[in-house]
Amino acid sequence: MGGRRLDGTAWAARLREEVRPRVERFTKLRGRPPGLAVVLAGSHPPSEIYVRNKIATVTEYGCAGELFRLSADATVDEALALVARLNADDRVDAILVQSPLPEGMGKEAEQRVFDTVDPAKDVDGFHPANVGLLVQRRPALVACTPLGCAVLLDREAIPVRGQHAVVIGRSDIVGKPMAMLLLHRDATVTICHSRTRDLAEVCRTADILVAAIGRPAFVTPEYVKPGATVIDVGINRLDTAGDVARCFGSDSPKMAQFTKKGSVLVGDVHPDVEQVAGAITPVPGGVGPLTIAMVLRNTVTAAELRAGVQG
Ligand code: NAP
Repeated sequence: MGGRRLDGTAWAARLREEVRPRVERFTKLRGRPPGLAVVLAGSHPPSEIYVRNKIATVTEYGCAGELFRLSADATVDEALALVARLNADDRVDAILVQSPLPEGMGKEAEQRVFDTVDPAKDVDGFHPANVGLLVQRRPALVACTPLGCAVLLDREAIPVRGQHAVVIGRSDIVGKPMAMLLLHRDATVTICHSRTRDLAEVCRTADILVAAIGRPAFVTPEYVKPGATVIDVGINRLDTAGDVARCFGSDSPKMAQFTKKGSVLVGDVHPDVEQVAGAITPVPGGVGPLTIAMVLRNTVTAAELRAGVQG
């Protein structure tokens, strides 16, 4: 018997539909739609897909979505200047700088650029001001991926209060805000990372286990308490038969998919976990579509907050 699949694609469609009347109301009141500006530097193939999906989604729901490209050899100053221009443009309500920025911009580039985005337009919720507001439980704009996971738990009526939630991963964009959102829903939260001792043992105490690691099929059934809810944030592309065989075996369904397509997208959670978990998000079709729905929602929230329009 397998765990219940939490259908991120279906929830994302409903969540997007909920935003439609807000877009219409804003557009009527302000005489223009909510506007999202996406900055893409270089041509990282997965980023091209993410950016295309985000712009297609916001425009489908009546917002203005515009892509601003920087070349792969753009300097950090050029990125900062573009963000400053978008900050000053009143038709732009929301700014998203697609990560990763090209390595040539230097190690500190991402932080400098994210810090330059006007917090009121910070659709990704990465700005320190928005992170601080989240920590103080008065969030305005919350990072889209963890927000999508939290909304999924809410909508699926998965009990969180008093439960032990374990988050594997402590990144600023997923692990830490995820932990805060669980804490604010009254979970007892443990954050794990690469230095955590006895990781599998800690994870086995989780009622809710969130994997945000970036390692394909890392979480195997021995990490999971029977009946636990497992949220798989990972998106990992495998493009060699050797990698697929190492993670899933050479006569696995994933290998069949790989043989057909030449690559497979897999989560941080091994498919065998479905046999142990009470509920689980698939990859693809779990957290990914929810993230995009939250980009749409945050774009509209940013527009409403900036204009003082009731959501
Ligand atoms: P990240 O910044 O690389 O952080 C990964 C975290 O995992 C780090 O905290 C790291 O620990 C921890 N980790 C790595 N190896 C570990 C191990 N062996 N044991 C325990 N912890 C380990 O990644 P991220 O940006 O948070 O993203 C995580 C995953 O989510 C990636 O697959 C990414 O593609 C995916 N993602 C998906 C979406 C979506 O829309 N679905 C959005 C964003 C990200 P240390 O801190 O100790 O290094």
